[in-house]
Amino acid sequence: MPLDDVALGLQRALDRLIRRLRLGKPPVSGHRRRLLIVQIDGLSRSVLDEAMARRRVPFLTRLVGQRGYRITPMSVGLPTSTPAFQLAAMYGVRPDIPGFHYHDRRRKSDVYFPRAGDAARVEQTQAAGRRGILDGGGAYGCIFTGGAESNLLTFAMIRRPSGAGLLRTVSGAVVIGWVLLKGTVASAIELVRAVLRIVADPVSGLRDGGWKWLAIKIGISVWLRELFTLVVSRDLYAGVPAIYVNYVDYDVAAHAWGPRHPRALRALRRVDAAIHRLWRVLRRVPEHGYDFYVLSDHGQAACVPYRELTDGPPIEQSLFDDFLDPPGATRTAVAGSRARPLASGFKAFRTQRAPGLFQRFVNYLERDFPWVLGEQREVRERAGIRVISAGPDAFVYFLDSEEPLTLERIEARFPELAAKLSISTGIGTVLVRSESGPLCFWRGRRYGLDELHTGPFARRADIERVAEGIRDLMAMPSAGDLVIYGIDAPRGNVSFIPEVGAHAGASLDEMSTFLIHSPNVEVTTSLTHPIHLYSHFARYQTAAA
Ligand SMILES: [Zn+2]
Repeated sequence: MPLDDVALGLQRALDRLIRRLRLGKPPVSGHRRRLLIVQIDGLSRSVLDEAMARRRVPFLTRLVGQRGYRITPMSVGLPTSTPAFQLAAMYGVRPDIPGFHYHDRRRKSDVYFPRAGDAARVEQTQAAGRRGILDGGGAYGCIFTGGAESNLLTFAMIRRPSGAGLLRTVSGAVVIGWVLLKGTVASAIELVRAVLRIVADPVSGLRDGGWKWLAIKIGISVWLRELFTLVVSRDLYAGVPAIYVNYVDYDVAAHAWGPRHPRALRALRRVDAAIHRLWRVLRRVPEHGYDFYVLSDHGQAACVPYRELTDGPPIEQSLFDDFLDPPGATRTAVAGSRARPLASGFKAFRTQRAPGLFQRFVNYLERDFPWVLGEQREVRERAGIRVISAGPDAFVYFLDSEEPLTLERIEARFPELAAKLSISTGIGTVLVRSESGPLCFWRGRRYGLDELHTGPFARRADIERVAEGIRDLMAMPSAGDLVIYGIDAPRGNVSFIPEVGAHAGASLDEMSTFLIHSPNVEVTTSLTHPIHLYSHFARYQTAAA
């Protein structure tokens, strides 16, 4: 778009002016190669292939078909989740990140990535001492910084954007102004369109999430994509040594409507167009020597929400109702919760199960609005057992133990718990540690990692990746004593939170992604875990040192 170029040209002139005033140093030029990584969040290899065949991603199709770019298959390990992927890829470590939301036994607190501070603490403790692949570069829309000094909407920096990042972004005032103007116009157009659609057909427009769609579209698709594309363009002109940008449009749409839904594919097409714009900028600065990569951190599995299937309470409640509440035991209040004054008044009712209308009201609040009572969404804790549902995965922690409990010790308390859970409605597999290593329960039977092909993962060509993923996951100290998956439940995949596209599990689509790269770049290791990306991308840093 030529107008974008005008905005960027103005902005470059501004940068030159700032340099002339000796406010910053000019970009270093030299012989080193530079790194641009574009992540399409949540895109599986199979959806990419289908989208290419159906001309839904015209730019990527041309990049591969006409420019000789290669698609190298990648398996991303377990859990199939952005934070686990990015920590491994950015720092080359096998992380202790069992999901998007989990309990850290050692700190005795939950980790929930969107919460300010959590991602930064995980990055500080788990990447300790290692050089990230983005040292001195930029990270946009990522979970972690990877060492980048410029961070925008990166989870680890949400509360505390890095000084340079802020300055660099603000020095791009022209870019921001342009994004605001363009975003406003585009939002207005979207709004008018959506209102027209809802007026024309109010029932279906709202029933299938018309307003939600609108919010997502304006909030993420228009603003973030626009902002990221322009800020990255700015960095490319400036010769920033390493850039990682994550486009989340497709992942968000796929969670809301499913990985192959037309709306998700339309979001993918818009991401494709944004990547094309970055490519055009790259071609104007061949002297910077950028190597250009497009990758995905995990795929998604189409699923049904647990509560739609069971027509009952969420799993963090039903596990207590059906399995974990010992008969006759009284319910205890949540330890360490920051209960509000209102909540403490309710506690008496919650511990005594008093009869009557008010008790029913409290039960209703407890089930549907637990945070009113001082509990977090998707978390329940009773009698020293904490359950967290994080997506298609749920974790059960026995808090009285410092170390994860083995099956033997769990079943001393709850006989045959794992087998019974694995035949419960909406549950696919149940993972647990044992004296003889990790075990997988499926349809009531137990399987060792060397027996997976005879049961839950029969017919999987990548069975070794699945076994390795389960071994890694259950070696994480923060993975639950029981790790329960709704993926591959008898009547199809299930997520424990309200979504129809999910990831964290071991289905083929979730685990199989790709790395698209130039034919001039040799990818020497086979990419069977995101940790292998680190050794490839870290070379760009070594070259600079
Ligand atoms: Zn996602």
